[in-house]
Amino acid sequence: MRRQEHPQSGKEAPPPKPCAACGREITWRKKWERSWDEVRYCSDACRRRSKSGSAASTDTALEAAILALLAERGAGKTICPSEAARRVAGASGEGEAWKALMEPARAAARRLHGAGKLLVTQGGHPVDPSHAKGPIRLRRP
Ligand SMILES: [Zn+2]
Repeated sequence: MRRQEHPQSGKEAPPPKPCAACGREITWRKKWERSWDEVRYCSDACRRRSKSGSAASTDTALEAAILALLAERGAGKTICPSEAARRVAGASGEGEAWKALMEPARAAARRLHGAGKLLVTQGGHPVDPSHAKGPIRLRRP
């Protein structure tokens, strides 16, 4: 049997794909050689979150709020993920409840970005949300 040795064989690894929960890029790893097609989450925390019914319905509401805000704002305009967080929190809570939804709102934005439904921007330029640090804005593609 011939041994395959490719010291720089980056080309054999499949391209990264977005986590179904947080939308961050999942980079292929050797341990997933046989199960890559079934890998959906970047971490156990994301897998647990996706199995939690209340988190899942919040995530769905955040995605809907982001898309609704973008539709209301019109072409070329941007929104902040906090607007979606405020809208969803407003329906079920008061005061500072929206702050707890900020990271879920950013995750929802990353998922929508992965699905090609919006662009994540910083300083007016599209960025890769898996690696973006600091405040982001969202706009329609
Ligand atoms: Zn994840």
